Amino acid sequence: MLTLDFHPTGRHFLQIPGPSPVPDRILRAMSLPTIDHRGPEFAHLGRKVLEGMQRIFQTQHPVVIYPASGTGAWEAALANVLSPGDQVLMVETGHFAALWHKMATRLGLQAEFIGLPGAEGWRRGVQPGMVEERLRADTGHRIKAVCVVHNETSTGVTSDIAAVRRAIDAAGHPALFMVDSISGLAAADYRHDAWGVDVTVSGSQKGLMLPPGISFNALSPRALAASKDARFPKAFWAWDEMVAFNKDGYFPYTPSTNLLYGLAEAIDMLTDPATGGLEGVFARHRRWGEGVRAAVNAWGLEIQCQDPSVYSPVLTGVVMPPGVDADQVRQRIWERFDMSLGTGLGKVKGRMFRIGHLGDCNDLTLMATLAGCEMGLTLAGVPLAGSGVQAAMRHFAEVPSPTPPVQAPR
Ligand code: PLP
Repeated sequence: MLTLDFHPTGRHFLQIPGPSPVPDRILRAMSLPTIDHRGPEFAHLGRKVLEGMQRIFQTQHPVVIYPASGTGAWEAALANVLSPGDQVLMVETGHFAALWHKMATRLGLQAEFIGLPGAEGWRRGVQPGMVEERLRADTGHRIKAVCVVHNETSTGVTSDIAAVRRAIDAAGHPALFMVDSISGLAAADYRHDAWGVDVTVSGSQKGLMLPPGISFNALSPRALAASKDARFPKAFWAWDEMVAFNKDGYFPYTPSTNLLYGLAEAIDMLTDPATGGLEGVFARHRRWGEGVRAAVNAWGLEIQCQDPSVYSPVLTGVVMPPGVDADQVRQRIWERFDMSLGTGLGKVKGRMFRIGHLGDCNDLTLMATLAGCEMGLTLAGVPLAGSGVQAAMRHFAEVPSPTPPVQAPR
Protein backbone atom coordinates (compact mmCIF):
# COMPACT_ATOMS: atom_id res chain seq x y z
CA MET A 1 0.00 0.00 0.00
CA LEU A 2 1.20 3.50 -0.84
CA THR A 3 1.85 5.31 2.41
CA LEU A 4 1.66 9.06 2.54
CA ASP A 5 4.14 9.08 5.39
CA PHE A 6 5.77 12.32 4.25
CA HIS A 7 2.61 14.05 5.47
CA PRO A 8 2.51 15.44 8.98
CA THR A 9 -0.61 14.89 11.06
CA GLY A 10 -4.04 16.00 9.90
CA ARG A 11 -5.34 16.01 6.38
CA HIS A 12 -3.39 17.44 3.48
CA PHE A 13 -5.10 20.60 2.22
CA LEU A 14 -5.94 19.84 -1.39
CA GLN A 15 -6.76 23.33 -2.64
CA ILE A 16 -6.03 22.82 -6.32
CA PRO A 17 -8.97 23.43 -8.67
CA GLY A 18 -9.52 19.73 -9.12
CA PRO A 19 -9.14 17.00 -8.25
CA SER A 20 -11.03 18.44 -5.30
CA PRO A 21 -11.26 16.76 -1.87
CA VAL A 22 -13.56 13.73 -1.85
CA PRO A 23 -16.10 13.81 1.01
CA ASP A 24 -16.05 10.86 3.41
CA ARG A 25 -19.64 10.04 2.42
CA ILE A 26 -18.51 9.48 -1.16
CA LEU A 27 -15.41 7.52 -0.13
CA ARG A 28 -17.62 5.22 1.93
CA ALA A 29 -20.08 4.74 -0.92
CA MET A 30 -17.20 3.76 -3.20
CA SER A 31 -15.99 1.12 -0.78
CA LEU A 32 -19.03 -1.12 -1.40
CA PRO A 33 -18.24 -4.45 -3.09
CA THR A 34 -18.02 -4.33 -6.86
CA ILE A 35 -21.07 -6.01 -8.41
CA ASP A 36 -21.85 -7.82 -11.66
CA HIS A 37 -22.23 -5.05 -14.23
CA ARG A 38 -24.64 -7.24 -16.23
CA GLY A 39 -26.81 -8.10 -13.22
CA PRO A 40 -30.14 -6.60 -12.11
CA GLU A 41 -28.65 -4.58 -9.23
CA PHE A 42 -26.39 -2.77 -11.63
CA ALA A 43 -29.29 -1.63 -13.82
CA HIS A 44 -30.69 0.17 -10.80
CA LEU A 45 -27.39 1.97 -10.20
CA GLY A 46 -26.95 2.72 -13.92
CA ARG A 47 -30.40 4.27 -14.23
CA LYS A 48 -29.94 6.26 -11.07
CA VAL A 49 -26.69 7.90 -12.18
CA LEU A 50 -27.80 8.45 -15.80
CA GLU A 51 -31.03 10.14 -14.69
CA GLY A 52 -29.24 11.99 -11.92
CA MET A 53 -26.66 13.40 -14.33
CA GLN A 54 -29.49 14.75 -16.50
CA ARG A 55 -30.54 16.80 -13.47
CA ILE A 56 -26.98 17.98 -12.89
CA PHE A 57 -26.53 19.04 -16.54
CA GLN A 58 -30.11 20.40 -16.53
CA THR A 59 -31.03 18.44 -19.63
CA GLN A 60 -33.85 16.18 -20.81
CA HIS A 61 -31.54 14.47 -23.30
CA PRO A 62 -29.05 11.61 -22.95
CA VAL A 63 -25.87 11.92 -20.91
CA VAL A 64 -23.07 9.48 -21.70
CA ILE A 65 -20.55 8.36 -19.02
CA TYR A 66 -17.06 7.22 -20.00
CA PRO A 67 -14.50 5.39 -17.87
CA ALA A 68 -11.93 8.04 -18.82
CA SER A 69 -10.59 11.38 -17.66
CA GLY A 70 -11.98 14.61 -19.11
CA THR A 71 -9.57 14.47 -22.04
CA GLY A 72 -11.33 11.32 -23.26
CA ALA A 73 -14.71 13.07 -23.18
CA TRP A 74 -13.20 15.98 -25.16
CA GLU A 75 -12.16 13.53 -27.87
CA ALA A 76 -15.54 11.78 -27.74
CA ALA A 77 -17.33 15.10 -28.31
CA LEU A 78 -15.28 15.90 -31.42
CA ALA A 79 -15.17 12.36 -32.81
CA ASN A 80 -18.91 11.75 -32.59
CA VAL A 81 -20.19 14.76 -34.52
CA LEU A 82 -17.38 15.72 -36.92
CA SER A 83 -15.55 14.31 -39.95
CA PRO A 84 -11.86 14.51 -40.89
CA GLY A 85 -10.97 17.94 -42.31
CA ASP A 86 -14.04 19.70 -40.89
CA GLN A 87 -13.61 23.32 -39.85
CA VAL A 88 -14.21 24.18 -36.19
CA LEU A 89 -14.05 27.51 -34.39
CA MET A 90 -12.41 27.50 -30.95
CA VAL A 91 -11.75 30.41 -28.61
CA GLU A 92 -8.51 30.97 -26.72
CA THR A 93 -9.42 31.56 -23.07
CA GLY A 94 -6.53 29.73 -21.41
CA HIS A 95 -4.48 26.58 -21.21
CA PHE A 96 -7.40 24.13 -21.40
CA ALA A 97 -8.89 25.86 -24.45
CA ALA A 98 -5.40 25.60 -26.00
CA LEU A 99 -5.18 21.87 -25.20
CA TRP A 100 -8.61 21.18 -26.71
CA HIS A 101 -7.54 23.12 -29.79
CA LYS A 102 -4.33 21.07 -30.00
CA MET A 103 -6.36 17.88 -29.77
CA ALA A 104 -8.72 19.01 -32.56
CA THR A 105 -5.71 19.75 -34.78
CA ARG A 106 -4.13 16.36 -33.97
CA LEU A 107 -7.38 14.64 -34.91
CA GLY A 108 -7.21 16.22 -38.37
CA LEU A 109 -9.74 19.03 -37.96
CA GLN A 110 -9.13 22.51 -39.33
CA ALA A 111 -9.32 24.16 -35.94
CA GLU A 112 -9.32 27.94 -36.02
CA PHE A 113 -8.33 29.59 -32.75
CA ILE A 114 -9.61 33.13 -32.19
CA GLY A 115 -9.33 35.37 -29.16
CA LEU A 116 -8.30 38.70 -27.75
CA PRO A 117 -4.71 39.75 -28.55
CA GLY A 118 -1.79 38.70 -26.35
CA ALA A 119 -2.84 37.13 -23.09
CA GLU A 120 -6.03 39.27 -22.80
CA GLY A 121 -8.28 36.32 -23.67
CA TRP A 122 -6.78 34.59 -20.63
CA ARG A 123 -8.17 37.40 -18.46
CA ARG A 124 -11.62 38.10 -19.94
CA GLY A 125 -13.11 34.91 -21.37
CA VAL A 126 -14.96 34.42 -24.64
CA GLN A 127 -16.08 37.63 -26.38
CA PRO A 128 -19.43 36.67 -27.97
CA GLY A 129 -19.13 39.56 -30.46
CA MET A 130 -15.97 37.99 -31.92
CA VAL A 131 -17.74 34.67 -32.37
CA GLU A 132 -20.69 36.37 -34.07
CA GLU A 133 -18.45 38.34 -36.41
CA ARG A 134 -16.46 35.24 -37.44
CA LEU A 135 -19.62 33.22 -38.05
CA ARG A 136 -21.22 36.02 -40.10
CA ALA A 137 -18.12 36.01 -42.33
CA ASP A 138 -18.57 32.26 -42.90
CA THR A 139 -21.33 32.69 -45.47
CA GLY A 140 -20.78 29.18 -46.86
CA HIS A 141 -21.34 27.63 -43.40
CA ARG A 142 -18.09 25.69 -43.55
CA ILE A 143 -17.63 25.93 -39.78
CA LYS A 144 -19.25 22.84 -38.31
CA ALA A 145 -18.84 23.52 -34.60
CA VAL A 146 -18.06 26.29 -32.14
CA CYS A 147 -16.12 25.02 -29.09
CA VAL A 148 -15.59 27.01 -25.89
CA VAL A 149 -14.57 26.39 -22.30
CA HIS A 150 -17.13 27.40 -19.65
CA ASN A 151 -14.83 27.66 -16.61
CA GLU A 152 -11.15 28.06 -17.54
CA THR A 153 -9.41 26.13 -14.81
CA SER A 154 -6.06 27.64 -15.77
CA THR A 155 -7.15 31.23 -15.10
CA GLY A 156 -10.30 31.42 -12.95
CA VAL A 157 -12.28 33.11 -15.72
CA THR A 158 -15.69 31.87 -16.83
CA SER A 159 -17.45 32.58 -20.11
CA ASP A 160 -21.07 33.55 -20.64
CA ILE A 161 -22.35 30.45 -22.43
CA ALA A 162 -25.88 31.81 -22.98
CA ALA A 163 -24.35 34.90 -24.63
CA VAL A 164 -22.25 32.72 -26.98
CA ARG A 165 -25.45 30.84 -27.92
CA ARG A 166 -27.13 34.17 -28.69
CA ALA A 167 -24.13 35.17 -30.82
CA ILE A 168 -24.38 31.97 -32.88
CA ASP A 169 -28.12 32.56 -33.35
CA ALA A 170 -27.63 36.25 -34.21
CA ALA A 171 -25.25 35.19 -36.99
CA GLY A 172 -27.90 32.74 -38.23
CA HIS A 173 -25.22 30.04 -38.30
CA PRO A 174 -26.00 26.30 -38.07
CA ALA A 175 -22.73 25.27 -36.35
CA LEU A 176 -23.05 22.89 -33.42
CA PHE A 177 -22.21 24.40 -30.03
CA MET A 178 -19.81 22.41 -27.82
CA VAL A 179 -18.84 23.45 -24.31
CA ASP A 180 -16.21 22.15 -21.90
CA SER A 181 -17.67 22.48 -18.41
CA ILE A 182 -15.21 20.04 -16.87
CA SER A 183 -14.51 22.32 -13.92
CA GLY A 184 -17.73 24.34 -14.03
CA LEU A 185 -20.40 21.65 -13.69
CA ALA A 186 -21.92 21.18 -10.24
CA ALA A 187 -20.15 24.29 -8.91
CA ALA A 188 -20.96 27.15 -11.32
CA ASP A 189 -24.47 27.53 -12.74
CA TYR A 190 -24.74 25.46 -15.92
CA ARG A 191 -27.82 24.75 -18.08
CA HIS A 192 -27.26 22.45 -21.05
CA ASP A 193 -30.77 22.69 -22.52
CA ALA A 194 -31.70 26.29 -21.63
CA TRP A 195 -28.41 27.58 -23.07
CA GLY A 196 -28.84 25.61 -26.30
CA VAL A 197 -25.64 23.59 -26.01
CA ASP A 198 -25.26 20.57 -28.31
CA VAL A 199 -22.48 18.75 -26.47
CA THR A 200 -21.26 19.51 -22.95
CA VAL A 201 -18.10 17.80 -21.78
CA SER A 202 -17.47 17.28 -18.07
CA GLY A 203 -15.42 15.25 -15.60
CA SER A 204 -15.75 13.70 -12.17
CA GLN A 205 -12.93 15.27 -10.17
CA LYS A 206 -14.14 18.86 -9.75
CA GLY A 207 -17.61 20.00 -8.62
CA LEU A 208 -18.84 16.40 -8.52
CA MET A 209 -16.32 15.75 -5.72
CA LEU A 210 -15.30 12.32 -7.01
CA PRO A 211 -11.83 10.99 -7.70
CA PRO A 212 -10.68 11.40 -11.32
CA GLY A 213 -11.64 8.61 -13.69
CA ILE A 214 -15.05 9.16 -15.24
CA SER A 215 -16.20 11.83 -17.65
CA PHE A 216 -19.33 12.86 -19.49
CA ASN A 217 -20.90 14.04 -22.72
CA ALA A 218 -24.35 15.64 -22.43
CA LEU A 219 -26.03 15.53 -25.83
CA SER A 220 -28.74 17.38 -27.75
CA PRO A 221 -31.06 16.00 -30.43
CA ARG A 222 -29.03 17.96 -33.04
CA ALA A 223 -25.79 16.42 -31.80
CA LEU A 224 -27.32 12.94 -31.94
CA ALA A 225 -28.53 13.59 -35.49
CA ALA A 226 -25.09 14.90 -36.53
CA SER A 227 -23.45 11.78 -35.09
CA LYS A 228 -25.31 9.63 -37.65
CA ASP A 229 -23.41 11.22 -40.56
CA ALA A 230 -20.09 12.01 -38.85
CA ARG A 231 -17.19 10.12 -40.43
CA PHE A 232 -14.46 10.03 -37.79
CA PRO A 233 -13.66 6.40 -36.96
CA LYS A 234 -14.81 5.66 -33.41
CA ALA A 235 -15.64 2.61 -31.34
CA PHE A 236 -14.87 3.13 -27.65
CA TRP A 237 -16.25 6.68 -27.82
CA ALA A 238 -19.28 5.94 -30.05
CA TRP A 239 -22.51 7.34 -28.62
CA ASP A 240 -24.90 5.03 -30.49
CA GLU A 241 -24.04 1.84 -28.59
CA MET A 242 -23.74 3.72 -25.30
CA VAL A 243 -27.14 5.35 -25.61
CA ALA A 244 -28.73 2.04 -26.66
CA PHE A 245 -27.30 0.12 -23.66
CA ASN A 246 -27.98 3.01 -21.26
CA LYS A 247 -31.72 2.79 -21.97
CA ASP A 248 -31.79 -0.26 -19.66
CA GLY A 249 -29.21 1.11 -17.23
CA TYR A 250 -26.28 -0.88 -18.71
CA PHE A 251 -23.07 -0.03 -20.56
CA PRO A 252 -21.57 -1.64 -23.69
CA TYR A 253 -18.29 -2.33 -21.86
CA THR A 254 -17.24 -2.62 -18.23
CA PRO A 255 -18.13 0.61 -16.41
CA SER A 256 -16.26 2.04 -13.41
CA THR A 257 -18.72 0.51 -10.97
CA ASN A 258 -17.24 1.92 -7.76
CA LEU A 259 -16.92 5.42 -9.17
CA LEU A 260 -20.58 5.14 -10.14
CA TYR A 261 -21.45 4.32 -6.51
CA GLY A 262 -19.65 7.52 -5.61
CA LEU A 263 -21.46 9.40 -8.36
CA ALA A 264 -24.87 8.24 -7.08
CA GLU A 265 -23.92 9.58 -3.64
CA ALA A 266 -22.63 12.86 -5.11
CA ILE A 267 -25.89 13.37 -7.01
CA ASP A 268 -27.87 12.84 -3.79
CA MET A 269 -25.69 15.35 -1.96
CA LEU A 270 -25.78 17.98 -4.73
CA THR A 271 -29.53 17.80 -5.26
CA ASP A 272 -30.53 17.47 -1.58
CA PRO A 273 -33.32 20.02 -0.91
CA ALA A 274 -32.11 20.30 2.71
CA THR A 275 -28.98 22.10 1.48
CA GLY A 276 -30.72 24.10 -1.22
CA GLY A 277 -30.26 21.67 -4.14
CA LEU A 278 -28.23 22.79 -7.14
CA GLU A 279 -29.12 26.46 -6.57
CA GLY A 280 -27.63 26.12 -3.07
CA VAL A 281 -24.46 24.59 -4.57
CA PHE A 282 -24.07 27.52 -6.99
CA ALA A 283 -24.77 30.14 -4.29
CA ARG A 284 -22.25 28.57 -1.87
CA HIS A 285 -19.56 28.60 -4.56
CA ARG A 286 -20.29 32.22 -5.49
CA ARG A 287 -19.94 33.26 -1.85
CA TRP A 288 -16.70 31.31 -1.38
CA GLY A 289 -15.29 33.00 -4.49
CA GLU A 290 -16.25 36.42 -3.08
CA GLY A 291 -14.52 35.64 0.22
CA VAL A 292 -11.32 34.49 -1.49
CA ARG A 293 -11.28 37.54 -3.77
CA ALA A 294 -11.78 39.80 -0.72
CA ALA A 295 -8.58 38.25 0.66
CA VAL A 296 -6.59 38.71 -2.56
CA ASN A 297 -7.73 42.33 -2.82
CA ALA A 298 -6.72 42.99 0.79
CA TRP A 299 -3.27 41.52 0.07
CA GLY A 300 -3.05 44.08 -2.73
CA LEU A 301 -2.35 41.32 -5.27
CA GLU A 302 -3.87 41.12 -8.73
CA ILE A 303 -6.61 38.66 -9.66
CA GLN A 304 -5.98 37.01 -13.03
CA CYS A 305 -9.61 37.60 -14.12
CA GLN A 306 -10.01 41.22 -15.18
CA ASP A 307 -13.76 41.21 -15.79
CA PRO A 308 -15.82 40.99 -12.57
CA SER A 309 -18.86 39.74 -14.51
CA VAL A 310 -17.00 36.48 -15.27
CA TYR A 311 -15.11 35.80 -12.02
CA SER A 312 -15.00 32.05 -11.46
CA PRO A 313 -16.87 30.74 -8.41
CA VAL A 314 -14.62 27.65 -8.58
CA LEU A 315 -11.09 29.02 -8.34
CA THR A 316 -9.15 32.26 -8.14
CA GLY A 317 -5.92 32.96 -10.03
CA VAL A 318 -3.55 35.08 -7.91
CA VAL A 319 -0.95 37.00 -9.95
CA MET A 320 2.46 37.54 -8.34
CA PRO A 321 4.23 40.91 -8.40
CA PRO A 322 7.00 41.16 -11.04
CA GLY A 323 10.11 39.23 -10.05
CA VAL A 324 8.29 36.75 -7.76
CA ASP A 325 8.16 33.14 -8.94
CA ALA A 326 4.67 31.86 -8.10
CA ASP A 327 5.90 28.25 -8.08
CA GLN A 328 8.44 29.02 -5.37
CA VAL A 329 5.67 30.51 -3.23
CA ARG A 330 3.55 27.39 -3.83
CA GLN A 331 6.48 25.16 -2.98
CA ARG A 332 7.07 26.97 0.29
CA ILE A 333 3.38 26.71 1.24
CA TRP A 334 3.42 22.99 0.51
CA GLU A 335 6.56 22.37 2.54
CA ARG A 336 5.59 24.46 5.55
CA PHE A 337 1.82 23.99 5.72
CA ASP A 338 1.09 20.80 3.80
CA MET A 339 -1.23 22.49 1.33
CA SER A 340 -1.26 22.19 -2.45
CA LEU A 341 -2.32 25.10 -4.64
CA GLY A 342 -2.69 25.06 -8.43
CA THR A 343 0.38 25.92 -10.50
CA GLY A 344 0.35 28.47 -13.31
CA LEU A 345 -0.15 26.70 -16.63
CA GLY A 346 1.06 27.55 -20.13
CA LYS A 347 1.41 31.29 -20.78
CA VAL A 348 1.09 32.16 -17.07
CA LYS A 349 3.56 29.57 -15.72
CA GLY A 350 5.46 31.06 -12.78
CA ARG A 351 3.30 34.21 -12.86
CA MET A 352 0.35 33.05 -10.81
CA PHE A 353 -0.97 30.34 -8.53
CA ARG A 354 -4.56 29.16 -8.28
CA ILE A 355 -6.67 28.69 -5.17
CA GLY A 356 -9.39 26.08 -5.61
CA HIS A 357 -12.63 26.81 -3.71
CA LEU A 358 -14.88 24.06 -4.95
CA GLY A 359 -16.72 21.00 -3.82
CA ASP A 360 -16.24 19.74 -0.30
CA CYS A 361 -15.18 22.98 1.41
CA ASN A 362 -16.69 25.38 3.90
CA ASP A 363 -15.95 28.76 5.43
CA LEU A 364 -13.44 27.39 7.91
CA THR A 365 -11.47 25.22 5.47
CA LEU A 366 -11.25 28.25 3.20
CA MET A 367 -10.10 30.42 6.10
CA ALA A 368 -7.33 27.89 6.81
CA THR A 369 -6.45 27.90 3.11
CA LEU A 370 -6.16 31.67 3.06
CA ALA A 371 -4.13 31.62 6.28
CA GLY A 372 -1.73 29.16 4.63
CA CYS A 373 -1.45 31.44 1.61
CA GLU A 374 -0.91 34.55 3.71
CA MET A 375 1.77 32.89 5.86
CA GLY A 376 3.49 31.48 2.77
CA LEU A 377 3.40 34.79 0.90
CA THR A 378 4.91 36.53 3.93
CA LEU A 379 7.62 33.87 4.31
CA ALA A 380 8.42 34.22 0.60
CA GLY A 381 8.91 37.96 1.10
CA VAL A 382 5.97 39.01 -1.08
CA PRO A 383 4.93 42.50 0.04
CA LEU A 384 1.28 42.49 1.14
CA ALA A 385 -0.90 45.60 1.53
CA GLY A 386 -2.93 44.10 4.38
CA SER A 387 -4.41 40.95 5.85
CA GLY A 388 -6.47 38.90 3.41
CA VAL A 389 -7.38 36.57 6.25
CA GLN A 390 -9.13 39.37 8.12
CA ALA A 391 -10.91 40.56 4.99
CA ALA A 392 -12.20 37.04 4.28
CA MET A 393 -13.21 36.57 7.93
CA ARG A 394 -15.27 39.74 7.71
CA HIS A 395 -16.86 38.56 4.48
CA PHE A 396 -17.81 35.13 5.78
CA ALA A 397 -19.08 36.57 9.06
CA GLU A 398 -21.12 39.34 7.47
CA VAL A 399 -22.55 37.59 4.41
CA PRO A 400 -24.80 34.75 5.53
CA SER A 401 -24.41 31.36 3.92
CA PRO A 402 -27.28 30.38 1.59
CA THR A 403 -27.35 26.96 3.29
CA PRO A 404 -29.59 26.64 6.37
CA PRO A 405 -27.55 26.71 9.61
CA VAL A 406 -26.38 23.42 11.09
CA GLN A 407 -28.49 22.42 14.12
CA ALA A 408 -26.35 22.93 17.20
CA PRO A 409 -26.73 20.62 20.21
CA ARG A 410 -28.67 22.16 23.08
N1 PLP B 1 -10.75 20.96 -19.48
C1 PLP B 1 -10.68 21.62 -18.32
C2 PLP B 1 -11.39 22.93 -18.18
C3 PLP B 1 -9.95 21.08 -17.25
O1 PLP B 1 -9.90 21.73 -16.08
C4 PLP B 1 -9.30 19.84 -17.42
C5 PLP B 1 -8.52 19.26 -16.31
O2 PLP B 1 -8.22 19.89 -15.33
C6 PLP B 1 -9.40 19.19 -18.65
C7 PLP B 1 -10.13 19.78 -19.65
C8 PLP B 1 -8.72 17.89 -18.88
O3 PLP B 1 -9.33 16.90 -18.11
P1 PLP B 1 -8.55 15.64 -17.55
O4 PLP B 1 -7.30 16.14 -16.91
O5 PLP B 1 -9.53 15.03 -16.58
O6 PLP B 1 -8.28 14.74 -18.70
